[in-house]
Parts: sequence; C-alpha cells; structure tokens
Amino acid sequence: TVPGVNEVRVVETAERKPLRILAIASGKGGVGKSTLSANLAVALHRLGVKVGLVDADIYGPSQAKLMGSEDKKPVAQDKKLVPVTGVADIPMLSMAHLVEPGKALAWRGPMAGNALGQLIDADWGDTELLVVDMPPGTGDIQLSMVQKHKPAGALIVSTPQDLALIDATRAVSLFDQAGVPIVGVVENMAGYACPHCGEVSDPFGQGGAEHVAGDLSAPFLGRIPLAIDIRRRSDAGDPPAAGEGAHADAFMAIARKLTD
Ligand code: ADP
Repeated sequence: TVPGVNEVRVVETAERKPLRILAIASGKGGVGKSTLSANLAVALHRLGVKVGLVDADIYGPSQAKLMGSEDKKPVAQDKKLVPVTGVADIPMLSMAHLVEPGKALAWRGPMAGNALGQLIDADWGDTELLVVDMPPGTGDIQLSMVQKHKPAGALIVSTPQDLALIDATRAVSLFDQAGVPIVGVVENMAGYACPHCGEVSDPFGQGGAEHVAGDLSAPFLGRIPLAIDIRRRSDAGDPPAAGEGAHADAFMAIARKLTD
C-alpha cells in the first residue's frame, strides 16, 4: 500500500554549509602573504571557525613548512585528495605535499590550474572556510582561482612600501573584475622594534596600506609588525598566532574583524 502523505516521514538530511573561500592575495611576493595565511587560519580556528588551508602558490609552496606538516603525504579517496593536518590539527593541502622537496615545477598554466583544482576540490569534510594562500601577482592561477572557484572574498596583504602598494592595487582590480569583494587590507612588516635598544623604526614606511584601504573603500584590518620572532617561529613551523603575546594578539584581532 502507498502511505498517505501524512505518514511519509521527512528524512532529515544533514545540510552541509557550502565551503566558502577566502583568498589571501598580494601584488608581489615576499610581503608576508603566506605568513599571514597560516597565522590567520590558526587565529580563525582559535575563534571556533572550521577552517582549512590551501597553498595555491603552486610554484613556491611554503605552507607545509609554516604549518609543520612537511613530512605528511595526502592520500586519495574516491578520486579526491584527503587533506593532511598541520598545527592545531587544521586540515590543509599544499603542492609541497605532492611533489618531491626541492624539485622545481615546470608546468604550464593549465596544468598548474588543474593542480589547484585538485587541492580545492579535495575532501574537506565539515570545513566551512577555506583560507587560500594565493600566488603573488595576477597570472593564470589567479584567474583560474577567481573564475572557477569563486572566492567569497579576498584579503589583500601589503607592506607599507610604495611599490608593494601599487602592485596590491593591481591585485585588487583582478578581484574587482570578477565581482569578488575585498574583505579588507592588512599591512605587514609595519614598524620594527630594535631588539637591542627598543627603538621603533619603519624600514618600509608607515600607514600606506591604510591609505590604500581608504581609496578602495575596503576595511583596514590591521598591522603586523616586522619582528624577528615572527620570522623565527614561522621557519620553525610554529605560527605565532598559536601562542600568546602581542604578535598572537595582532593576528587574533584581524581574525576577529573577519568574523564580526
Ligand atoms: P609571501 O608569501 O608574500 O611571499 P612570506 O610570508 O613567505 O611572503 O614572507 C617572506 C619572508 O618574510 C619569510 O621569510 C617570512 O618569515 C618573513 N616575514 C613575513 N612577515 C614577517 C613579519 N611580520 N616579521 C618578520 N618576518 C616576516
């Protein structure tokens, strides 16, 4: 017999929230984009966000080192990669997990784009937010990222230096054209406190990124100082955001602004 309408039980399906992508971008390399991506992932995790981390810097991956997961190898299940875990058990994937250490990649754009697709379309489980460390500049990977993977937002990192700022505005126009909102601008390497005399100097100038944020009508999310400890801990696979103190606070403050 066919059950009446009222007898049909509604099967509760566990609705999974769609995976949102936050692209961390900069116009040029060496401004601290990878450092910020790792620390922001850790800070968001500390705030209770189910966060994952993708290293989209296919040619110069650094997240495996920053997150202390260099010796891990992802497996494939049902044709999807299963992420490895880094600091604080954050799920993550980087090209560094797939290629032999120190081996240069000589891929053309489309191959690199496919590789990025595999990292992003991996089995992310209940991850809600994927922090994606973008390669510097505005090339093929960046285009494929904004067109195919549709980030929910982009965060721009810059040093206070003029050249880095000009490049940052170029990166912004890539996202603008694709309709990806700029969630904010972070100034990195702002202010250096001399470990000997304590005097604070500004090797790369001061306040530039805040101006750019103003010009773009994007929120200025904060400054991270240039500090030996940040470099040391990053190299050791122990992101400062996982600890205590002023540097952890600086990253936590940015993460809080993003979750508000
Ligand atoms: P990008 O991803 O933009 O190329 P990285 O995050 O790899 O930049 O940073 C470049 C170098 O600068 C790394 O050696 C990193 O440890 C160092 N670095 C980044 N941010 C800081 C900072 N705020 N203080 C000190 N060193 C930093």
